[in-house]
Amino acid sequence: TIGMLALDSNGNLSGACTTSGMAYKLHGRVGDSPIIGAGLYVDNEVGGATSTGVGEEVVRNVGSFLVVELMRQGYSPAEACKEAVMRIIKKKPETAKNIQVGFLALNKKGEYGSYAIQQGFSYAVCNNEKQDLLIKSLSYY
Ligand code: ASP
Repeated sequence: TIGMLALDSNGNLSGACTTSGMAYKLHGRVGDSPIIGAGLYVDNEVGGATSTGVGEEVVRNVGSFLVVELMRQGYSPAEACKEAVMRIIKKKPETAKNIQVGFLALNKKGEYGSYAIQQGFSYAVCNNEKQDLLIKSLSYY
């Protein structure tokens, strides 16, 4: 999945995501990316979130909506992403050892963060100071 979150100079948030889906998926499978609240969610009052990885686990936890709601409660983007990942791990600890799910979030203040189950998830940041900063996500494993 490619997920993008943006905060423009007027302070408006937006987001988008696209995916090829999972390899060897069943015909007709719908992953998390096309489902608002799962693979992507943006609330212009709070922030936006997007995900990558095994979409079934993201859908089950309404992951991106969860990340935005946690930010509404005061979590930082990175803390909110971590909590959403922890829900997935807590529900299916054995499955989580072998799958990847990562969340990326941006809030109304322009703060951003991410968290993934496995290492290897990274994202790029572009703003006035940084043109193409590549950041390695924190991860559980
Ligand atoms: N999240 C996507 C899906 O489950 C897969 C991906 O990360 O590309 O369809």
